[in-house]
Amino acid sequence: MGQLITMTDSGLQVPDRPLIPFIEGDGTGPDIWAAAVRIFDAAVEQAYGGKRAVAWTEVLAGQKAFDRTGSWLPDATEQAFRDHLIGIKGPLTTPVGGGIRSLNVALRQRLELYVCLRPVKYYAGVPSPVRRPELVDMVVFRENTEDVYAGFEVAAGSTEADKLLRFLKDELGWDVRTDSGIGIKPISRTGTERLVRAAIDYAIEHDRRSVTLVHKGNIQKFTEGAFREWGYQVAAEHYPDHTVTWDDIDNEVPAGKILIKDAIADIFLQQVLTRPAEFDVVATMNLNGDYISDALAAQVGGIGIAPGANINYKTGHAVFEATHGTAPKYAGKNVINPSSVVLSGVMMFEYLGWTEAARLIDGALTRTIGERYVTYDFARLMDRATQVTTSDFADRIIAHLRAAGDA
Ligand code: NAP
Repeated sequence: MGQLITMTDSGLQVPDRPLIPFIEGDGTGPDIWAAAVRIFDAAVEQAYGGKRAVAWTEVLAGQKAFDRTGSWLPDATEQAFRDHLIGIKGPLTTPVGGGIRSLNVALRQRLELYVCLRPVKYYAGVPSPVRRPELVDMVVFRENTEDVYAGFEVAAGSTEADKLLRFLKDELGWDVRTDSGIGIKPISRTGTERLVRAAIDYAIEHDRRSVTLVHKGNIQKFTEGAFREWGYQVAAEHYPDHTVTWDDIDNEVPAGKILIKDAIADIFLQQVLTRPAEFDVVATMNLNGDYISDALAAQVGGIGIAPGANINYKTGHAVFEATHGTAPKYAGKNVINPSSVVLSGVMMFEYLGWTEAARLIDGALTRTIGERYVTYDFARLMDRATQVTTSDFADRIIAHLRAAGDA
């Protein structure tokens, strides 16, 4: 029998046998989940010798949910994530035509998971398009509830667009072309503050060197520019002992201090290619964060390996997820790379405070890839690789983590 994880004033309370809901996912979801859950259980067993174990409980979403219940995202699933605080999910088919725009977006909005967290680091041996991928070690905090993704959009020619255009002209004197579709981009002080605080808290907790606020404030002064201003204010008001800015120092960041800096989004995307070592924790708004997370993931080997999490640090709710799609043409073939969901599990164990289990998995995955013992997607880009199935890859990781745990 598992127990509930709870949130208290002193933080997350994790019992030794936490109940954790999982969504297997559609398409190749069952292939990667079957591999990942064996790795998770083996790591916890190895790290805690039976004192701790996860009580997994399956909940439905996506195609499997639709086929069984007629709903893409049953209320019971949302409730399970609410009650259990933490969950993990594989990729989901996006319903085509009406209803929910995206199941992932729906879950993020309903649970107010305001941070999309994407660590981006290089695993030695992973094929990469850049010369020095090992210099990339960043953690992206992408705001998850505002910006153009808040979904305030009206179609060109619609009654709503006509009303809005009239309002803009009559009340504000803005002449917008009458055949325009319009999207509204809200960026609030509240949304910015809680995101930047999460990024700085993370930087403090993980001994990171800097937090970079990425924005287009040179053009969009009252949204992206305000994000920059509010970001600096949060650091100055709430973290004066932990942070410095370039204005406070000559050119050396004092030991133990975190540098708060900012970068314009287009320059940032150049500099992460030309001088990646200068960036560490990154805090940004939704749309910039979307581009940045995927561009950085590509630098370290991309789609099959990038993990992610959506988190509300105040309520404790968090959903850890594979960041790729369902890759349906490989469904049931036991060939797909499970690393994205496996590393999402590493993030989950870190979030639970089960760092020993997280480290065992991370180390064993590093060793397995380092031996060039990999699934087809990496094998086709590597010299002298041994191409293996999803389940063989998992077996090798388990063998390594057992060996490391016994050592
Ligand atoms: P996709 O499922 O990510 O697959 C595109 C290609 O990426 C695959 O054909 C494969 O490339 C490669 N790939 C993806 N995951 C991989 C893995 N684990 N290991 C190795 N290679 C991997 O994207 P899509 O075909 O555009 O989308 C399919 C469905 O997934 C759609 O319904 C989409 O809406 C949904 N989707 C869901 C999520 C989510 O739930 N988070 C995210 C994105 C898309 P090769 O064929 O070259 O080997």
